[in-house]
Amino acid sequence: MLGEGILKGLAETAKNFAGSYVSKERLTTVQYPEERAEHIEASRVFPFLVYDGPDAFAGMRCVSCQICEKECPPKCIYIEKSKDKKPDYVGKPQNYPVRFDIDISVCMSCQICVEVCPFDAIKMDSVFEMATDNRFGGLLLDREKLLKSNEYYHSIHPTEATEVDGRLAEEKAKVEAKAKAAAEAAAAKAAAEAAAPKTAAPAAAPAAKPDAPKPTGGAE
Ligand code: SF4
Ligand code: SF4
Repeated sequence: MLGEGILKGLAETAKNFAGSYVSKERLTTVQYPEERAEHIEASRVFPFLVYDGPDAFAGMRCVSCQICEKECPPKCIYIEKSKDKKPDYVGKPQNYPVRFDIDISVCMSCQICVEVCPFDAIKMDSVFEMATDNRFGGLLLDREKLLKSNEYYHSIHPTEATEVDGRLAEEKAKVEAKAKAAAEAAAAKAAAEAAAPKTAAPAAAPAAKPDAPKPTGGAE
């Protein structure tokens, strides 16, 4: 029937509209700012940088590989790599971002930076009240503003953060086991070398034979 699809669509819309007044699950409109929608784990607004432990600088996961900067579609990430290195979460010396800015007036919340980061260093935040009257720089978030603790990450995305923690702990255990095996192998090699008998000094070359006496001639 001509227009059947349109009628079906309108019926579905009407059902949802009426249902939004009686069903809690459908109450999608809240009287903001007096009321707040409940936080949902899958929400995402702008990215933030994760750090572990109490020290934001020491625990910063970002190693300044700049993959996110290259992959960001609107190019709103600006990174300056350090010249020196600091230990990462497994103790390996790594570079770190001296500067890490995200221009959230350009960011389109696509989450590509999160997906390409090999170090689980950048995640999506759920803070959305970020309006400012500072049009120059007010929406340019620097490293200090972007850095947030792993505990904060757990508070907004608990399932995802727990999964990341498990993966990082697994990687760390693997690296530590490898380092331990290498240390044990080196110690065993050193012990074997110490226990091995010293090899004998090469024998002295035989003394040169004196010249044989020249045969005397026959009876003269
Ligand atoms: S969310 Fe998308 S647009 Fe925003 S910084 Fe990440 S990659 Fe760029
Ligand atoms: S956030 Fe991730 S991808 Fe971006 S520079 Fe840091 S480590 Fe690399």
